[in-house]
Amino acid sequence: MKKYDIVIVGAGIAGMTAAIYAVRAGKKVLVLEERVQGGQIINTINIENWPGDLGVSGADLSQKIYAQMVELGAEVEFDKVIKISVDDEGFVVDGEDDSYKASAVIIASGTEPRKLSDEMMKDVGKRPVSYCATCDGALYKGKKVVVVGHGNSAEHEIKYLKGICSEVYNIHHDDPIPADAEAIFVAIGRLPLTDYLKGFVELDEKGYVISDEDCKTSVPGVFVAGDVRTKNLRQLVTAASDGSIAATNAIEYLG
Ligand SMILES: Cc1cc2nc3c(=O)[nH]c(=O)nc-3n(C[C@H](O)[C@H](O)[C@H](O)COP(=O)(O)OP(=O)(O)OC[C@H]3O[C@@H](n4cnc5c(N)ncnc54)[C@H](O)[C@@H]3O)c2cc1C
Repeated sequence: MKKYDIVIVGAGIAGMTAAIYAVRAGKKVLVLEERVQGGQIINTINIENWPGDLGVSGADLSQKIYAQMVELGAEVEFDKVIKISVDDEGFVVDGEDDSYKASAVIIASGTEPRKLSDEMMKDVGKRPVSYCATCDGALYKGKKVVVVGHGNSAEHEIKYLKGICSEVYNIHHDDPIPADAEAIFVAIGRLPLTDYLKGFVELDEKGYVISDEDCKTSVPGVFVAGDVRTKNLRQLVTAASDGSIAATNAIEYLG
């Protein structure tokens, strides 16, 4: 089993920033990513509130940070983490494909979109459901679609779809779906990706990893960064900020 100073779960903005700090401090770092580097920002066309880059896309920003992290020496494996445990030497991080040893771990697994209820799915029937207008909107050019949800991300989806579709309905998560809507876009919030952490670190009632600005968890040697932790503002700058703090505290823990 390969051994690392720090294993980071997730190559979103939080995880990749943590990796940059850790490799620059001379640590041997592995980043494990289930899907693709960049995380939830990857499909956003125009990023807002990211200092120094007006109108950069999520894909471009992610690629720049990924290239920087790899250039500096971080290793990356595309593997889904399914369990983390403790042994005599530190931590064992089990992926679907392999297992990895670590002296410290940084959790940066982010969030996923909240799904529609089973009841609402009955109303959806055979119509397609999407959680990303930027990814799938073009498939419904000139068609009638519905956006479920009323927050900032629903507003973003509506604005985007209005430029493509003939009609964009907007409903709450418990409203009936208009009969003539041909596709359903869902934006009803997000949930933390922490199933693999149950029983290992303390989670709050919604499943977020309990921590504060020091990015420490209930387990010494395990740190947390980004949207997956308890916090008030889930944005790119706070994800990057957490990544720097989690890595700095992990480096200090390693001595
Ligand atoms: C549509 C949309 C638009 C947004 N626009 C903006 C904006 O303009 N400005 C802004 O500041 N913020 C924006 N945000 C919020 C911002 O994207 C997030 O705050 C930020 O990306 C969080 O980064 P993160 O690294 O914490 O998590 P994520 O981006 O969620 O990354 C987590 C990564 O971990 C991986 N992962 C999860 N579980 C595992 C596992 N078990 N094993 C291995 N890998 C795993 C995931 O695949 C993912 O790549 C937006 C969010 C959305 C959804």
